[in-house]
Amino acid sequence: MAAATTTSPAAGRLPFSPHPNANPVRLSSRASLKTPSKPVSLHLRHLTVPSAAGAAAPYPDSFSSSIPDLLSDKPRDECGVVGIIGDPDASYLCSVALHALQHRGQEGAGIVSTHRPSSDSPVSLRSVTGLGLVSQVFQDKSKFDYLSGSAAIGHVRYSTAGSASSLANVQPFLAGYRFGQLAVAHNGNLVNYSSLRASLEDSGSIFNTSSDTEVILHLIANSNSRPLISRIVDACEALQGAYSLVFLTKNKLFAARDPYGFRPLVLGRLRRPSRAIVFASETCALDLIEADYEREVNPGEVIFVDGHDLSISSLCLMPPKPRKACIFEHIYFALPNSIVFGRAVYSSRYSFGSTLAKESPVANADVVIPVPDSGFYAALGYASHSGVPFQQGLIRSHYVGRTFIQPEQNIRDLAVRLKLAPVKGILEGKSVVVVDDSIVRGTTSSKIVRLIKDAGAREVHMRIASPPIVGSCYYGVDTPRSEELISNKMDVEGVRNAIGCDSLAFLSLESLRNLLGKEAPSYCDACFSGNYPVPPMENEADRLLAEEEE
Ligand code: SF4
Repeated sequence: MAAATTTSPAAGRLPFSPHPNANPVRLSSRASLKTPSKPVSLHLRHLTVPSAAGAAAPYPDSFSSSIPDLLSDKPRDECGVVGIIGDPDASYLCSVALHALQHRGQEGAGIVSTHRPSSDSPVSLRSVTGLGLVSQVFQDKSKFDYLSGSAAIGHVRYSTAGSASSLANVQPFLAGYRFGQLAVAHNGNLVNYSSLRASLEDSGSIFNTSSDTEVILHLIANSNSRPLISRIVDACEALQGAYSLVFLTKNKLFAARDPYGFRPLVLGRLRRPSRAIVFASETCALDLIEADYEREVNPGEVIFVDGHDLSISSLCLMPPKPRKACIFEHIYFALPNSIVFGRAVYSSRYSFGSTLAKESPVANADVVIPVPDSGFYAALGYASHSGVPFQQGLIRSHYVGRTFIQPEQNIRDLAVRLKLAPVKGILEGKSVVVVDDSIVRGTTSSKIVRLIKDAGAREVHMRIASPPIVGSCYYGVDTPRSEELISNKMDVEGVRNAIGCDSLAFLSLESLRNLLGKEAPSYCDACFSGNYPVPPMENEADRLLAEEEE
């Protein structure tokens, strides 16, 4: 562990002061990977908030959250995290920032904030989480009175590990342990989760959730190091895979990013007089709460901010590895108004489209249309370079509620038609170039082709602004198993035939790398190339085991 810039945080035992409405579940960890000098205990809170009547009322566990996205043949976003310290409206600002990150996860949302009832009371941490969208979980504004402190962390969840429908898996996780309270929110996926968990359970740890994030809390609780930042470093050194993390204690905010920097995490500062410090998964969250972007949290870095004076200190987690930032953030995940890994997402998508037009033109095309919304900016680039007019030949409905569609396959087929309406006046009799960001299973693409042909298009030419996806992701993006990926099973002509279009072309991997220039080696493109920066051995072993059991 190499120190970059450090100031010594005050080491000390954090007083544990449980909130009367909390319903802690005691987790015991009798021993650990690094055996502690004495038994430790970890209390992971059931997440409760007073009802209107003031009584503790858990959020219903039955809220429908596992409804597939209506255009579900896409890799699924990972999660989004936010941390704010130094502003009296921290939890409210956190919720606004989470709104900006809603595209990164729609299954659940939560905020943990500091709370001090009076100047002579101890500070404690409080939590509100729920299944559903940020606007649903925080519809009742009295929750911000409950989350009243000047520091908060937040999370929007899409499950890449752990059951999607379980409220217990919704973050941030708030735990009590021998040094006080600690909350964590995580974006990413740990490739060695199963072995870490097995090791911790063999040593006596009891887990409350099926989320990989919980192992991080156990590892921190079991570390003998002092102060907390050293325990966080100890824990991170045991983790393999992708993690962008924010932690909150009663007076400090921490942010950490894995040594490869798979998932984004940025640092900014509010323009308000408070000049509060903000961490967020994407810069679009900073923009919405009027914070200035300052820099990325570097791969392998742990930053902590002291709540008393907002001083920032930084540690380098471990010897730096070559950065492997996820290129899919630029292809699909991040909002186009974000700056991710130092690049403007809008410009990336536009250039992917214009290069695709150069590589794979369509002779005598009449119109270029995007698959909304994911293909929009690449289609603009394609149209601009090709000189073929850009039109919105598919209109996306924004009013089909998630709960309107049930997950059964026969109804899901209807979902594309409910979500996308063809514009006959644009498509009828035309040779149409349809631009999308990616093809995963191919199921949605075939429905879109049929939709456009049914609207009277003469020819449909699919152009995909990324290379064929041939492998699963093990770093926090939910992709189907490799054998379910259509480009893993067949070549481009086979895919064209399967989805029923007149021609099909993907952006080549070579062109994608050329567009990234000298930064190309610092991006992960494993789902296109099969070059996995961290071997996915554990996941493959789990998969083979699951197949054996089937
Ligand atoms: Fe991103 Fe693909 Fe790498 Fe996963 S495998 S981190 S989706 S580029």
